Amino acid sequence: MIVAMQAEATESQINHICDRIREFGYTPHVIRGTERTVIAAIGPGDKKEHIESLKSADGVEDAFPILQPFKLVSREVKKQRSAIQVGDVTIGDGGFVIMAGPCSVEGYEQLMSTAEAVAASGARILRGGAYKPRTSPYDFQGLAEEGLKLLAEARNRTGLKVITEVLDTEDVELVAEYADVLQIGARNMQNFALLKKLGEINRPVMLKRGLSATIKEFLLSAEYIVTHGNPNVMLCERGIRTFETATRNTLDIAAVPLLNELTHLPVVIDPSHATGKRSLVRPLAKAAVAVGADGLMTEVHPRPEEAWSDGPQSLRFEEFAAMMREIEPYINLRKSESN
Ligand code: PEP
Ligand code: MN
Repeated sequence: MIVAMQAEATESQINHICDRIREFGYTPHVIRGTERTVIAAIGPGDKKEHIESLKSADGVEDAFPILQPFKLVSREVKKQRSAIQVGDVTIGDGGFVIMAGPCSVEGYEQLMSTAEAVAASGARILRGGAYKPRTSPYDFQGLAEEGLKLLAEARNRTGLKVITEVLDTEDVELVAEYADVLQIGARNMQNFALLKKLGEINRPVMLKRGLSATIKEFLLSAEYIVTHGNPNVMLCERGIRTFETATRNTLDIAAVPLLNELTHLPVVIDPSHATGKRSLVRPLAKAAVAVGADGLMTEVHPRPEEAWSDGPQSLRFEEFAAMMREIEPYINLRKSESN
């Protein structure tokens, strides 16, 4: 349930409500807004008698049940959109943040040249996989810690922040030592042990939508991370599996405004994995801006024909630069409309 405190509620009244919520068998989560504090009481069921009792307590404006199955990530609990801070980069404040880089970290020259190229074109965050979730066990599995070290070096050289995927609970701490944002790939969206572990770390997480996951399942997975203690979660729509085989996946563009209705978490689009085709990345990047996404993740490679993974969907440097030029007027239009 949600307990909305009065604007003038005191700290001791807030603490008292938290105690009552615990007595009733729920866990309180205090969410401080600019005008008032709300307390989300998370637990099985929202009993009517508990709601009635809390309603009449001092300092309480109102108490009501949370209707959605996902709680802390829902807009019912928090109306204001959440922004995630990655160093000096903010995701979810109305701006449009670009994450770009190779599918896999392959080596020094490949990563440094890509990092420099994408930084020069306006990307703020460098992507690159050091642990790769490959469909075939015979495909390149990633450089592991050596790849993480290269990402950290690229950050030092360019000032870009770093996002990289973590595949396994065992690697979470190591990856968190090197990365600014931890990525949970589509194949791990419902790896609940991994999601719980990410709840315990002090780093933002980007959760990618599962290959066949519904919006509800997607948000319940985000809820796992948040309810285990980490509120800094952004969502990534990366295409879902449909009957269509002409593209690698089908970008669910409606998911973006729908998620924006249902959750306060930032939402980004990955047009590279959504399509599997380089030529489709630029048009979908424009769509991402138009539909209200908070940013974009795209794959970029110095020589896509030689890439160890996902070459056909990777942009060349000049194509990435062209994409950035192409979306700029759309970003500016969005900015002027929101002012
Ligand atoms: C990736 O971004 O490197 C990746 C493997 O994507 P996804 O998990 O969306 O397939
Ligand atoms: Mn890839």
